[in-house]
Amino acid sequence: MSKKWIYLFREGNASWKDLLGGKGAGLAGMTIAGMPVPPGFTITTEVCNAYYDEGKKFPDGMWEQAMDALKVVEQQMDRQFGDPVNPLLVSVRSGAKFSMPGMMDTILNLGLNDTTIKGLIASTGNERFAYDAYRRFVQMYGNVVLNINKDSFEHVLDAYKHKIGPKAKDTDLTTEDLRAIKDEFKAIVLKETGSPFPEEPLEQLKGAIEAVFASWNNDRAIYYRQVNKISDALGTAVNVQTMVFGNMGDDSGTGVAFTRDPATGENVLYGEYLPNAQGEDVVAGIRTPHPISDMEHDPNFPGVYKQFREIAHRLEAYYKDVQDMEFTIEKGRLFMLQTRNGKRTGPAAVKIAVDLVREGVIDEATALQRVPADDLTQLLLPRVDPVARAHAKFITKGLAGSPGAAVGQVVFTAEEAEALGNAGQDVILVRRETSPEDLRGMVAARGILTAFGGKTSHAAVVARGMGKCCIVGAGSIHIAKDASGFSIDDTDVVIKKGDWITLDVDSNEGRVLAGRVKTIAPEMSGDFATLMEWTDKFRKLQIRANADTPQDALKAREFGAQGIGLTRTEHMFFEGNRIMAIREMILSDNQEDRKKALEKILPYQKEDFVGIFKAMDGFPVTIRTLDPPLHEFLPHEDAQIVELAQEMGISVEKVKNRIEYLKESNPMLGFRGCRLGIQYPEITEMQARAIFRAALEVKKEGVNVHPEIMIPLVSDVNELKLQRDIVERVALEEGVKEAGLAYSVGTMIELPRAALTADKIAEVAEFFSFGTNDLTQTTFGLSRDDSGKFLPLYVERKILKDDPFQALDREGVGQLLKIGTERGRSTRPNLKVGICGEHGGEPSSVEFCHQINLNYVSCSPFRVPIARLAAAQAAIGETVRDK
Ligand code: PEP
Ligand code: MG
Repeated sequence: MSKKWIYLFREGNASWKDLLGGKGAGLAGMTIAGMPVPPGFTITTEVCNAYYDEGKKFPDGMWEQAMDALKVVEQQMDRQFGDPVNPLLVSVRSGAKFSMPGMMDTILNLGLNDTTIKGLIASTGNERFAYDAYRRFVQMYGNVVLNINKDSFEHVLDAYKHKIGPKAKDTDLTTEDLRAIKDEFKAIVLKETGSPFPEEPLEQLKGAIEAVFASWNNDRAIYYRQVNKISDALGTAVNVQTMVFGNMGDDSGTGVAFTRDPATGENVLYGEYLPNAQGEDVVAGIRTPHPISDMEHDPNFPGVYKQFREIAHRLEAYYKDVQDMEFTIEKGRLFMLQTRNGKRTGPAAVKIAVDLVREGVIDEATALQRVPADDLTQLLLPRVDPVARAHAKFITKGLAGSPGAAVGQVVFTAEEAEALGNAGQDVILVRRETSPEDLRGMVAARGILTAFGGKTSHAAVVARGMGKCCIVGAGSIHIAKDASGFSIDDTDVVIKKGDWITLDVDSNEGRVLAGRVKTIAPEMSGDFATLMEWTDKFRKLQIRANADTPQDALKAREFGAQGIGLTRTEHMFFEGNRIMAIREMILSDNQEDRKKALEKILPYQKEDFVGIFKAMDGFPVTIRTLDPPLHEFLPHEDAQIVELAQEMGISVEKVKNRIEYLKESNPMLGFRGCRLGIQYPEITEMQARAIFRAALEVKKEGVNVHPEIMIPLVSDVNELKLQRDIVERVALEEGVKEAGLAYSVGTMIELPRAALTADKIAEVAEFFSFGTNDLTQTTFGLSRDDSGKFLPLYVERKILKDDPFQALDREGVGQLLKIGTERGRSTRPNLKVGICGEHGGEPSSVEFCHQINLNYVSCSPFRVPIARLAAAQAAIGETVRDK
């Protein structure tokens, strides 16, 4: 006996989505529950895969099973497929495990030909309706199965309508018109394909099934799967179902509805219906549908609304989730055509999940699993109003550096951004790329747009840290040499300095829109807070934040951070006039002068730490010693170099020589990290002193302070030893022990060698924090700043599954995390291990960190809620799998 390839709806099961697809499983569920579903059968997803495996042939036995199933349907309906007197007509629809709205194909009214049409006319007594169904069928079949351009058919239809009058609608066409149109459609088929339209219903059925399988691999379906991370291996099922007609008169109709509002989550039946219409009329938007609530008092549909509402309630109670339903009313009789879990916005997902718990439908763990962690972004940041977006002029797109929305006037330098921004103007800073020098301009701008750079480029990392909207790598942008404006490749669009633009960024991409587009403010509703509290009951990972200022630290606490996992001290060096002292330090010829310059910075640096320690009272704060290459602190343009030389009273040549000395071909891998503190121990010494002084000061004031000093970019334990010695000496000098201040010294693991020698490093380190940004670039040999140019292509061609700077690469970098953690803990069993790269706020990376037993993840303040939810989901997922 051959395998079972086909299931009648009544043989299926509502939970068999893998096998029957979402639509097939829904139809089976509703049929078994006794709801009014037109009979039919589902061809499984396994057939789709077998069809492709066997070189586009139906697997053995499948067609015979389809014929058997068809016979059963014929008996149930007391009609026959192809019968000239009482013909059965069917719809053929796709249905994958995950819904892919509008991506795949559907054919309605299948089974019509010049003979069966007579039966349809006789059985319905409605000739006009029958010819309308027939012309629709030829049109759909011609387009979907025979690949004839839609326009060829539309032209004919338009010509007939035009004959009636300039404003004639489809409904004005007479029976005669429709019959003639059908004939012209068939003539188009003959002309375009060289063969007559297939009259044989079984041949039509075979063609339609194959067309649905083909649509699994059309361009838009492939792209949709790529964007939504749906596997290509799932395949689609095909549903063959008895036709019911919503276009048989005023007592017929069709509609779609959700059991709750998918935009807000409000518990009201939400949807639309259209009298005397077939499904595609609703989608095509030719006529405006009525709100579903109007159906309650519509004299054409007595009792239907009540019946539908009851079914909707039953379906939601059965699936314990919001349902998205399609229905048709044929001559006053309601038929259900589909039910599936409804797609919803982030705010709606939160409200629905919390409401369902309150209503006693689901438990807290299930509620937490219902909200995609990344969708919380929509509750945390302003966003572009979707209605306004639809009317806005699109200029270009780039990578999603940091999500949200920003509206402002274009400026091209950090200085301008700072001057105008601080004067209260809304500006968007547009740069080829950004560097730490631009920081003040970035802070003052509403949003940032760069032509180059990937998702972990400077602009993106800094912007995410600030929760500021940012688009990077918008490669089609060309900034004019005189910075008067920018143009877009291959278009005549020119945006001048001072023009208004809007940045519109979601988690997938960033769009640049012209003008001031309306935005919606973030809502921190009570339900959101409730959901966040639930995460804390389940998660095992601690969540910390990466924060460089007291404001960011406070924001992070508000979002539930349990400490700071990374303070990048270099960001502080650009504040106020400190940059001059830093430059003085860099340009010094000897240690004594360097120490003098550092002396100037020490009090500021101490104050920075005081602020952060206070904001994080009771929680640990990890402070990293200086990390970036020093040339980042020096100017690069001639005019600025001359200005600096004058200000410092030294020669231009000297400044240029020092810049030349510090210049690196790969600025991310050279003279940076702990190497700076080894060459210039006085830098580490100053920073350690500032940390201890700040900690001792706040401790006296009663603050519960836990400093953790972190040494970056270590590749060998000896580097760490040297740096630790300095920190300990300073601790002694500052009287840390006497004051009873506990602190720890640890390191970042950012280089493969550090991960591999973690057992040795753990002899000196009290904690590890994986810097997965650098660890990814050093493992892949990809630069985090430049790879934006080609990484998207890698993902598109599936060379890499994901951008490794975005979602942690479990196979390679993940292995180093695992090895590093295990080896580190083999030396020091209670070693505290976390990550502070950008992956700390990305749900699948958080899941991995949970799986390898890290202690915490640390991410930008605005991603803390996402990390909390993702950590809870990882923990719940594990318990579910254990059962
Ligand atoms: C890292 O490399 O992952 C990290 C957090 O450090 P930074 O991004 O500052 O290099
Ligand atoms: Mg790093």
